[in-house]
Amino acid sequence: QAEFKLDTAGTIWSELLALARQPGVCNLGQGYPDYDGSKVAREAASQAMLEPTMSAMNQYSMPPGLKSLQESVCTYYNKRYQLEEGAAKRAIGSENVLITIGATEGLYASIKALVGPGDEVLIFNPGFPWYLSTTRLAGATPVLVELSGPDFAPDMEKVEKAITPKTRALLLNTPHNPCGHCYTKKELEGFARLALKYNLFVISDEVYENVTFGGVGHLRIADEEGMFERTVTLCSASKLFSLTGWRVGWALSTPSLLKGLAVYHVATSYCAPSPLQHGLAVALDAEDGSFEDIPKLVEGNALVLGDVLREKGFIVSQPQGGHFLVADTTPLGLKGLECAKLLLTQAKVSVVPGIIFYFADPKAAEGGSDDPGMDSDRPLLRFAICKQRATIEEAVRRIRATE
Ligand code: GLN
Repeated sequence: QAEFKLDTAGTIWSELLALARQPGVCNLGQGYPDYDGSKVAREAASQAMLEPTMSAMNQYSMPPGLKSLQESVCTYYNKRYQLEEGAAKRAIGSENVLITIGATEGLYASIKALVGPGDEVLIFNPGFPWYLSTTRLAGATPVLVELSGPDFAPDMEKVEKAITPKTRALLLNTPHNPCGHCYTKKELEGFARLALKYNLFVISDEVYENVTFGGVGHLRIADEEGMFERTVTLCSASKLFSLTGWRVGWALSTPSLLKGLAVYHVATSYCAPSPLQHGLAVALDAEDGSFEDIPKLVEGNALVLGDVLREKGFIVSQPQGGHFLVADTTPLGLKGLECAKLLLTQAKVSVVPGIIFYFADPKAAEGGSDDPGMDSDRPLLRFAICKQRATIEEAVRRIRATE
């Protein structure tokens, strides 16, 4: 099956993550927190599960979501981003919310709904590996736009140059995984100008919206003039409440775009788990503050870990948000995978090498390579810093002790 060959990144990802979970390994690999997730959500979900089996809590919700969660999402977003009826920053109602199985399902449903064979999707390189595989699964063609360190900000001239008559969608991600760049107002205006000029959809992955640092705020492309109608914003309840195993997220958009997503959502999963949706609705309503301290913790983690990496000779980027810190291994004369293996064997610290996030040029891939989804092993490492300070300090001790 051709599709299996396309997911080399997924295979390496799974293999590395299995190694990372071995006993004694300090795991800064996959981006999931080791601090407590929302207690309010967990208690409410547990109570819902213990309700009589025939209660609505233990049966299917409607495919777009449990009404109470859709409403809580609206209240939360309208308040948080000061969205208003009739303004460019448009207030959302339940009809603008589709509850998904994590943002991952939202991504798949968006791409399947908005693009197809013959269409091109602009994707930034490096980026979250699923963007490439999902675009390919939809039969569309990924077109890569390179981001460069140290800040990994998008270059609008490069973006516009990459647009062709076949371009149908821009895939945006802020805060960026893995590089931590957060789009500025000017960058969002640039994307909006291009989307309007070339009539493009925008799929905007904003799962780390609650983690920005140092006065940088999260800005949304959907809030730009004229963009609400052509944007699907992907969000993650699991990230917001540090419960990544719950697999619940939401896609925000217009009813007509969400109708397209719902076709795939109904076909693949029908609805998200009802008791978990209930727990999240209660947590959103309670304005559970469990996530408020996280940006400070993660920002501090970036500084503590960044210091030892600089000491060891890495070039370290300063993230503005998200759950990750990236380091360039060039001064050490090592490629990413090589360096990640050394860290795992010598320091028992697991990280993710750049090979996971750098996509190969799709044109080269069409030349019949066995490894079509992967670029050469670039000199980049990603460290997950959505961890307790003690975990980061342990990693620092281990890295400092290496030769
Ligand atoms: N978003 C997380 C990361 O980048 C995990 C995603 C996954 O494994 N599906 O680490």
